[in-house]
Amino acid sequence: MDQILRAIDKNYSFRLFFIQSDNLVEEAKQIHGLSRSATVALGRLLTANLLLAADLKNTEDRLTLQMRGNGPSGFLVTTADGSGHVKGYADQPEAKVADKKNGEPDAGAYVGKEGTFVLIRDYGMKEPYTAHSPLVTGEIAEDIAAYYYQTEKIPTAISLGVQLNEDDSVKTAGGFFLQAMPGVSEEELGKLEDFIKTLPDITALLEVHTPEEIIRTAFAAFEMDILDTSDVSYRCDCSREKVEDALTSLHKDEIETMIKEDGGAEVVCHFCNKKYAFSETDLRQIIENRN
Ligand SMILES: [Zn+2]
Repeated sequence: MDQILRAIDKNYSFRLFFIQSDNLVEEAKQIHGLSRSATVALGRLLTANLLLAADLKNTEDRLTLQMRGNGPSGFLVTTADGSGHVKGYADQPEAKVADKKNGEPDAGAYVGKEGTFVLIRDYGMKEPYTAHSPLVTGEIAEDIAAYYYQTEKIPTAISLGVQLNEDDSVKTAGGFFLQAMPGVSEEELGKLEDFIKTLPDITALLEVHTPEEIIRTAFAAFEMDILDTSDVSYRCDCSREKVEDALTSLHKDEIETMIKEDGGAEVVCHFCNKKYAFSETDLRQIIENRN
């Protein structure tokens, strides 16, 4: 089972979220038929999304991340909720790019260096909060760290990793998010800056250690106390009702065209590929409900 751990240092200067996400990244790979580079890129974004959503207060809260680069991915979208569920998809899941010289999949080339990172917080208010920043490398962790420095002005270290087996299945996936708390001293901040210079390779550590061991050893300088551990998973919350709501919001003429041309409609969920079929009678009922 994939898990996320929340920890804080003894001076309350830094908070740490640490995640192991092997299973949910493999599930995303299988749902979408992701190429090697797409598995690493979308896997990192799904992992990041759960880390960034780890402090959501309500189960209904949503945090959405988008990477829109100039590479063959088109774009990547993920959404996490306040209960440890995440879902996502790539516009071009099967697009391939050449591996890096060391034989590893090239997520940065798949996403592209030029583009925008978008973050949307939906906490059930009237308008969701949206912010964005330019991509730095397309490698995702660097892009999100840059977002926190530039847009939110919070010193943050983030590391994300996805390692594949020879058969391209997911070997290990995980990451961490280490962030300064308000009022942290300059001296304490120096610890974070030193740490960022030699970021540990999380997937290599996860191959041989538990998250608890890694927090004790790789983060020893911070003397972290683990506050809690909870399960995380890939889950889509689509339903026939939600698809019906989406159809209801369409213009009447658009629904009439579906009836005339196809005798009904089949709607496929981008996040889980589930199909929802609507007959002509269903669509006529939807038109009627609009009035
Ligand atoms: Zn779905």
